[in-house]
Amino acid sequence: MSNSVRKIVVVGGGAAGWLTAGVIAAEHVTGDAAGISVTLVESPDVATIGVGEGTWPTMRRTLGKLGISETDFVRNCDASFKQGTRFDGWHTGSDGDRYYHPFSLPLGYATTSLVPNWQARRQRISFADALTTQSHVCAHGLAPKQSGTPEYAAVLNYGYHLDAGKFSQMLQRHCTDVLGVRHILDHVTGINAADDGDIASLDSKQHGLIEGDLFVDCTGFASLLLGKHYGVPFVSRKDALFIDRALAVQVPYPSSDSPIESQTISTAQSAGWIWDIGLSSRRGVGYVYSSGHLSDAAAESELRAYIEPSMGKDAETVTLRKISIDPGHRREFWHRNCVAVGMSAGFLEPLEASALVLVELSAEMISEQLPVTRDTMDIVARRFNDKFRYRWDRVIDFLKLHYVLSERSDTDFWVENRERDSIPASLAELMTLWRRHYPVNADFSQIGEVFSAASYQYVLYGMGFETVSGPATPRQLPEAQAQNMFAENAENTRKMLAGLPANRELINRIKESGLRAA
Ligand SMILES: Cc1cc2nc3c(=O)[nH]c(=O)nc-3n(C[C@H](O)[C@H](O)[C@H](O)COP(=O)(O)OP(=O)(O)OC[C@H]3O[C@@H](n4cnc5c(N)ncnc54)[C@H](O)[C@@H]3O)c2cc1C
Repeated sequence: MSNSVRKIVVVGGGAAGWLTAGVIAAEHVTGDAAGISVTLVESPDVATIGVGEGTWPTMRRTLGKLGISETDFVRNCDASFKQGTRFDGWHTGSDGDRYYHPFSLPLGYATTSLVPNWQARRQRISFADALTTQSHVCAHGLAPKQSGTPEYAAVLNYGYHLDAGKFSQMLQRHCTDVLGVRHILDHVTGINAADDGDIASLDSKQHGLIEGDLFVDCTGFASLLLGKHYGVPFVSRKDALFIDRALAVQVPYPSSDSPIESQTISTAQSAGWIWDIGLSSRRGVGYVYSSGHLSDAAAESELRAYIEPSMGKDAETVTLRKISIDPGHRREFWHRNCVAVGMSAGFLEPLEASALVLVELSAEMISEQLPVTRDTMDIVARRFNDKFRYRWDRVIDFLKLHYVLSERSDTDFWVENRERDSIPASLAELMTLWRRHYPVNADFSQIGEVFSAASYQYVLYGMGFETVSGPATPRQLPEAQAQNMFAENAENTRKMLAGLPANRELINRIKESGLRAA
């Protein structure tokens, strides 16, 4: 193998494979025969996971970078706008127990904090309702922008709900037709090592040897290159996150003009939670649960009961798809000339849609730091591993926080989730700090956190956490000024409710006449 890194081979054609191939190709493929090439090989025999329908706002930037028009994306992927997550029944499980984790930052977040002032009002108004307009907009099923707002621009921050199968197909078309990615539809049957231990080539059923300088393992749960070939150990995180099963189902809308929810809905159940994602064409619903706390049959009954109000008698017979989940990640993600992205690197329950955002961040770092020669690859690999080990740990902390804050005691699942030895030490430490000061970005050691302090604030204060204020800090606002800001938020909310279209209305307009280019 020559020392230069020019041939990049991505194995796997799910969302991880196509996003990574696209991000690298958009940046590096020039069409010059001596330049960088990206080849994606995917098996016709192994289906993609086909779930994974909620994204973060980062997806707007990623799609923009790939040169995909938002209008085409909305039309081709049955996409809708996601403005955050609504958590039902997570805090106490009592009637009306509900809070929002919206994507827009709390009012004043960049320069000050209204947390202490809000705490004095917490009995009267929820944190999200007092500090954003977005929870109100979500509650009314409205869109985060108007039909005149250009592509990818926002009135309120948003990500997407999308059809996973259609998304991969659209990425495939765009990557091959526009970005110059070579597509090989073939099953990889073997991996050939060079003398130094790097991967030299892959064996495939129909296309023979596929050679490369850098191999990106996007083979999903199979983890063919990093896991099976290199034997990089899997680090189970079931000690903290108990969920290891999913049951998924597609639910039709009663009519073509049914309203579309503005956020993912996550409803707590006896041993996990149900996701409910509204696309433009249908809903995607699924129960993720702990098999250590609930039998598959009982989980099935809970899911069927959830969809019964929408599906009537059909809820009893509709086919549910069962997926096993192993919560955790590989000990390292980049080994020699192989880097894993997507579920081949690891997977955690989709509580905050963290999987696709980690794919986007991985693809971005590989592309930005693409080693020009093999000599620098180990340095990039070490940095990548350090960064992503940290990121997986922070995601685990953030997901676990939702369980630790719950006061539900109706089943062992909820009680055991609060047991001390199931709580990562890093999370316990942060929660101790936050008893004394509200979360700020300086609490975290890296820039570019997956979840900012704003996300922690929404979940902590949405679930009843109390920060015992010390003496007023210079950042703290005088009460009169805070009062004005809360009034401003209420006024802005009135304007948003009057000015934003319903989700369905905006999507119909995009389908008819498209959005203005950015
Ligand atoms: C229940 C559930 C819910 C989820 N919800 C969300 C969510 O809301 N938000 C979110 O961000 N993420 C979510 N995810 C995760 C998300 O689905 C994945 O991160 C995303 O789809 C990427 O998957 P992937 O490309 O890594 O793997 P896959 O889609 O499984 O693709 C694997 C690819 O590898 C190929 N392959 C395998 N073996 C071979 C071989 N021998 N030769 C050649 N090719 C091979 C297959 O053909 C396939 O193309 C969810 C996942 C699950 C399980």
